[in-house]
Amino acid sequence: MRLTQILFSQGFGTRHECLGMIVNGAVSRAGAVLDDPELDLDPAGLVLTIEGQDWPVHEKALILLHKPTGFECSMKPKHHPSVLSLLPGPLRVRGVQPVGRLDEDTTGLLLLTDDGALIHRLTHPKKKVPKLYEATLKHPMDEAARQQLLKGVVLNDDPEPIQAAAAELLEPTRLILTLTGGRYHQVKRMVAAVGNRVEALHRSGFGRLRIPADLPPGAWTWADPADL
Ligand code: URA
Repeated sequence: MRLTQILFSQGFGTRHECLGMIVNGAVSRAGAVLDDPELDLDPAGLVLTIEGQDWPVHEKALILLHKPTGFECSMKPKHHPSVLSLLPGPLRVRGVQPVGRLDEDTTGLLLLTDDGALIHRLTHPKKKVPKLYEATLKHPMDEAARQQLLKGVVLNDDPEPIQAAAAELLEPTRLILTLTGGRYHQVKRMVAAVGNRVEALHRSGFGRLRIPADLPPGAWTWADPADL
């Protein structure tokens, strides 16, 4: 694939803009500047450095963002900036979207991708992808309430009880909940259904993916689809 076409496919602007970046020396590989726009490269496993940032070339992007509070997952946010504003322009140009949503005040692991089929696979209820949440509770939770979360609670928009796949109390006010569904405010509403309240919520896992220990809130990294 021609170098100009590779940059274009990664969201670095129009073909003309990509060509300009290449001839101006903004693109390199393993320390060597690639300034020939016609250079033919195999995109598989290719890592370029573009304007100083390492850029693994992927046909589809899968991004792991450590979401801080104060950002909305909506593409058209109402009260706070969108999580998309935390990503570099080329990823926004490629049209990456959040895989499901976290509330504005929830922190933690948010996946974003431009692969519509992957979004469908990861969010479809039948796929039962486990999501791990750490909730700080207002009141200590007793064993009966923990058991109730496992047996199922009824939320106000569905008569069918909804269960947690796992519920572990690290401390009386620190609950680790594993959910395979992705209903609106699901953790907060399930905790409210057993007479308690979520004071802070953090998602630490999605499938087998975890937030890398060195990834601070607000930062992002590439994720490997194989880890899902
Ligand atoms: N459940 C919630 O209540 N909020 C989230 O952000 C995610 C799951």
